[in-house]
Amino acid sequence: ERERLARLRHTPAITRDGEPVELLANIELPEDAIGAVKAGAAGVGLFRSEFLFMGRHGKLPDEQEQFEAYRRAVENMEGLPVTIRTVDVGADKPLDASHRDDAHLNPALGLRAIRWSLADPGMFRTQLRAILRAAALGPVKLLIPMLAHGSEIRHTLALIDRARAELDNAGIAYGNPQLGAMIEIPAAALSLPLFLRYFDFLSIGTNDLIQYTLAIDRTDESVAHLYDPLHPAVLRLVADTIAACRAAGKDVSVCGEMAGDTAMTKLLLGLGLRSFSMHPAQILSVKQEVLRADALRLAPWAQEVLVAEDPAGVLAGL
Ligand code: PEP
Ligand code: MG
Repeated sequence: ERERLARLRHTPAITRDGEPVELLANIELPEDAIGAVKAGAAGVGLFRSEFLFMGRHGKLPDEQEQFEAYRRAVENMEGLPVTIRTVDVGADKPLDASHRDDAHLNPALGLRAIRWSLADPGMFRTQLRAILRAAALGPVKLLIPMLAHGSEIRHTLALIDRARAELDNAGIAYGNPQLGAMIEIPAAALSLPLFLRYFDFLSIGTNDLIQYTLAIDRTDESVAHLYDPLHPAVLRLVADTIAACRAAGKDVSVCGEMAGDTAMTKLLLGLGLRSFSMHPAQILSVKQEVLRADALRLAPWAQEVLVAEDPAGVLAGL
């Protein structure tokens, strides 16, 4: 089976009825990009930059160190796009032991991701400058995690402008990355016109979207049986986000675990998704599903799954 899959590495990911599908890699460190290319990824859909910030005992990477890391990822991808997400620490991803100690009662609902970045604008601009500089070297996209409020969006965009001005003043070269937002809080999935007004593309983080929609801590084993990617409410938010992006002519991707789950591939294709970002080890298995799928015929079936009381049952019947 592994050998059979390996032969698919250079096969283009196109459905039986001719729809091209983009299969991207999630990476945590620049060197992971090498494996992503080997696995046949069409690019990096999610570079979780927080891994550069973790385990550093309070001393965060400076602009140059971050720039070097982003540059290595861009170079390792050999001209393929690299989507760099700004830091998402907190909750399940503490900076180090001391950060864990001052964890709040509900860290998943606390100061994580963009909230943490906006709480220290100087630190955030350091990261933004490093990413903007890397964007001069290849097709970099800039992705912001955990946004929910219009005020957070506007604050973030103002800091990006200011980071550009700082680079201008210093005479340092930078690029103009496409700007994207993660849709991973239900409030964001229910405010799509706002997000589409400000961003070039959206990326659906199903891991957190499931957690927050169902009020299930994704790290709490005692409620793991209720963590259900097929809950109709979750599917509705995912479907609406895909549909709104397609109607607006904007790119949309899924970068949570759902994208690498072969049991979900046909459903996501049927909902109109054409870009999946996943652990590199999943790419060939998902590609096999894509090659077997008939996207046009899956569309009405996906609408049935959406309104079913038991979507898992409909899915199993395919
Ligand atoms: C997600 O929430 O689905 C996601 C991709 O982000 P992370 O798993 O890093 O929180
Ligand atoms: Mg997330």
